[in-house]
Amino acid sequence: MAMFSNPKFRWIVECGWKGLCPRCGKGKMFDGWLKLADKCDSCGLDYSFANADDGPAFFALCITAFPLTFVAVWVQVAYDPPWWVHMLTSVPILGVGCLATLRPFKGWLVASQYVNKAIEAGTEGLWAKLNAREGEK
Ligand SMILES: [Zn+2]
Repeated sequence: MAMFSNPKFRWIVECGWKGLCPRCGKGKMFDGWLKLADKCDSCGLDYSFANADDGPAFFALCITAFPLTFVAVWVQVAYDPPWWVHMLTSVPILGVGCLATLRPFKGWLVASQYVNKAIEAGTEGLWAKLNAREGEK
């Protein structure tokens, strides 16, 4: 796919997937499972610009939960198992699948926000400060 040959896109996906700082690629982005660190422990990037909101939940729902739900529905239609089979298979798979993909999606959104300099209205001053710091190097 063309977008995977784009180095900027690959950088965003790699940093997001591994939870690494989108500026230096070395420090950690997360302080816990989903909580962002205050700043990068390697280059000092201040993560106060990052605001993924419910984006990770949206992507986990669309990309993880919907396909898994279709598999559960297919199992029901094809094999008509008793309800407890879904409690032992579909429910845990859906739960674990969604929780496991939240972090990579959040990392991807935060890295994308940084790399593309996406800003929320009213945060121009913060971005000016961040870019001024980057210029000092
Ligand atoms: Zn960093």
